[in-house]
Amino acid sequence: MNKIVPLKKDNTGSNHEAIRLRRHFHQNPETGFTEFWTTSEICDYLSELGYEIHYGKDLYRSTYPSIQHISEVAQIDKNKVDSAYQTAKASLPESPWLAEMEGGFTGVIAILDCVEKGPITGFRFDIDGLPVQESSGSEHIPSREQFASRNNNMHACGHDGHTAIGLALAKQIADNRNQLSGRFVLVFQPSEEGPSGGEVFARFDIFKQLDYLVPLHIGIIDERKIVCGLSFLNVRNCRVIFRGKNAHAAVSPELGRNALQAACTAVTNLYGISRHREGMSRLNVGQMCSNNPTNIISDHAEFELEVRGEQNKISHYLFERANSIIRGAAAMYDVEVEIEELGEYVCADNSEKSVSLMKKAAINIGLDQDVIVERKLTSASEDATFLMNAVNENNGSASYLCLGSPTYGGHHHPSFDFDEDMLVYGVDILFEYIRCSQPSHNNSLSHQAKTA
Ligand SMILES: [Zn+2]
Ligand SMILES: [Zn+2]
Repeated sequence: MNKIVPLKKDNTGSNHEAIRLRRHFHQNPETGFTEFWTTSEICDYLSELGYEIHYGKDLYRSTYPSIQHISEVAQIDKNKVDSAYQTAKASLPESPWLAEMEGGFTGVIAILDCVEKGPITGFRFDIDGLPVQESSGSEHIPSREQFASRNNNMHACGHDGHTAIGLALAKQIADNRNQLSGRFVLVFQPSEEGPSGGEVFARFDIFKQLDYLVPLHIGIIDERKIVCGLSFLNVRNCRVIFRGKNAHAAVSPELGRNALQAACTAVTNLYGISRHREGMSRLNVGQMCSNNPTNIISDHAEFELEVRGEQNKISHYLFERANSIIRGAAAMYDVEVEIEELGEYVCADNSEKSVSLMKKAAINIGLDQDVIVERKLTSASEDATFLMNAVNENNGSASYLCLGSPTYGGHHHPSFDFDEDMLVYGVDILFEYIRCSQPSHNNSLSHQAKTA
């Protein structure tokens, strides 16, 4: 069933740099904007290789000049960030990097310049984990081979693998620096899972300068295939709060204004919104609550809603219709309603130029044509799209690489895992992408050097 050519013998097993690094990062996952240990480890590794490191407050202040805390630009609980910082500080008392990250300024942009001038090539790797308790089952390889999470979070989306690919690629670029030209920009982005680190990073000037940008993901599609240009749905979500009036449910019910009834009416009718003819869409209410006992007419009810669409306009259409239904339901029961927007992940185009280069790279490293997919739409969403748009809108070429793999349990599940050899393919394809995008397509780089 394995259609991707078998890996070379010296690339198998945990002794490959990308696999070794993945297992290292897998053990200490940190959620969005609390990736203090992760960022510190990345800085250590990249500075050893000679990269120029941009991180911490300085990185953010180039765009947000007076920022003191990440909660000023991302919807995140300040105390959560600060207590995670204290935990990281206790475990890394010697880290030279940590102090600059206080306030949630995680993530790194690392730059390496070659002697010869050439294109500016960027890669983006997300580094955050999820608040998921990892499976301790013996069928789960990280537990069986003793590299499972040691805290209450989990790398249940493969971002440990992305971080590892980024660092192994960084090493390969540095090792081959004299045979390459141009500038390399490696972006280790915090908080892909939300609140969106991609949206925060997309305002950094560097993205306007990039000639190429490739973000990537492991898994997503449940088969071992390489997708050169993966597209995502737009997602928009909001919290809806109905405010009514309490009253005794038996003695004077007519004096109440029932917030729960309005919320129920809204939720039921939201699922009846007509779909859009121009593409795929989704709508879901994830939670609803109202805390009154049975003998009180509910004065407060709230729920959270998300809509998704294949194009921004489809998602916006659903969102507007949802707004009308919610306001209509509030009017029916004479209650007030507040719709609080929680954020949006937008759609992005895969540039033809970058998709073609990726296809060429995949063929060059010896993959069969039938495992290479040029373009595909997934029903997931991604915040690298903000970065891709920043690049595409400024005459650069961005495309999203998918390293398809079975994902044992599925993304965000306690038994999530992937085929680790995809990490090796990831490093090889990205390095070959670099070679293909070099001005003279430098063939003097030996295959030996590429896979060292
Ligand atoms: Zn995820
Ligand atoms: Zn992910």
